[in-house]
Amino acid sequence: MAVRAAVLSAVDAPLEITGIDLPEPGPGKVRVRLAAAGVCHSDLSLTNGTMRLPVPAVLGHEGAGTVVSVGEGVTRVAPGDGVVLNWAPSCGACPACARGEVWLCADALSGAAAVHAHRADDGTALHPGLNVAAFAEETVVPASCVLPAPDGVPLTDAALLGCAVLTGYGAVHHCARVEPGESVAVFGVGGVGLAALQAARIAGAATIVAVDVSPEKEQLARGAGATEYVVASDATAREIRSLTGKQGVDVAVECVGRATTIRTAWESTRRGGRTAVVGIGGKDQQVTFNALEIFHWGRTLSGCVYGNSDPARDLPVLAGHIRSGRLDLGALVTERIALDGIPAAFDTMLAGRGGRALVVF
Ligand SMILES: [Zn+2]
Ligand SMILES: [Zn+2]
Repeated sequence: MAVRAAVLSAVDAPLEITGIDLPEPGPGKVRVRLAAAGVCHSDLSLTNGTMRLPVPAVLGHEGAGTVVSVGEGVTRVAPGDGVVLNWAPSCGACPACARGEVWLCADALSGAAAVHAHRADDGTALHPGLNVAAFAEETVVPASCVLPAPDGVPLTDAALLGCAVLTGYGAVHHCARVEPGESVAVFGVGGVGLAALQAARIAGAATIVAVDVSPEKEQLARGAGATEYVVASDATAREIRSLTGKQGVDVAVECVGRATTIRTAWESTRRGGRTAVVGIGGKDQQVTFNALEIFHWGRTLSGCVYGNSDPARDLPVLAGHIRSGRLDLGALVTERIALDGIPAAFDTMLAGRGGRALVVF
């Protein structure tokens, strides 16, 4: 029986909502009925070729749902269990995993080359965009791609944990390691940026500056913990320094992935400040620094992959924050849509409007 899915047939092709035939879960696999899936910037990056993975593919990688059936040998979950999808399962065996840096696992995206399903109309083989193919009513994934959903959290909220929240929270807690009383600037108020703002609040940051090109996101940002709001311009770094006693912030979190934003984020930090680059930019985005300023400012610029998160370790921590009310997942969602609303959600994202759009099944 076919299920509906959002399929990318080629880079730059429009997403198609079509029927797909999923295989029954083989050994080590799990079939999940999606409750919800977030529309992430990485899905857009796959459609426009900024990120490249095998196509045609079923996109979507931030989701949660209920286990329908399991293949041979699967013991960690059972039919009826609520699960969060993990698009970057770690192999446990490569040098990065051995160091405990599971977010850098060399094997994490190897599953994207596999055949995931077939188009119901013409039988074309489809790949899983980022392993988990969450833009579908149902998906079949390796058991390593599911984590138990936290108790007491609606699955429609839990979907966001799988990418936006692990990434934004992790950037603040694991990568930049924000301490109580520090000042933080978050660049880009989308799903990840909103999670980073909430994470800065949870970390006890004193001054939290949100920066976005759109003046319309101020309410959204302040609701997530921003104490200041700056509309991005050529004067952004100067404005941030003036908000922090001419010093600059202790920490900048860049959630955009553009050269100018990365440069501005770095310039917005104090001497010795830290910048975490979370946004995924293209190869055309060249960031330049001169040798003297690197020395003089003594700043740190770090790449940050999936929030430097270990999903198995971090989900229970996030669940604790949700249950205590410190982390509000609902506040990230600005639009609830159906599968066929994804192309419009991409347009909204490109126009720089809104937080997370959530496909609710
Ligand atoms: Zn994502
Ligand atoms: Zn590994």
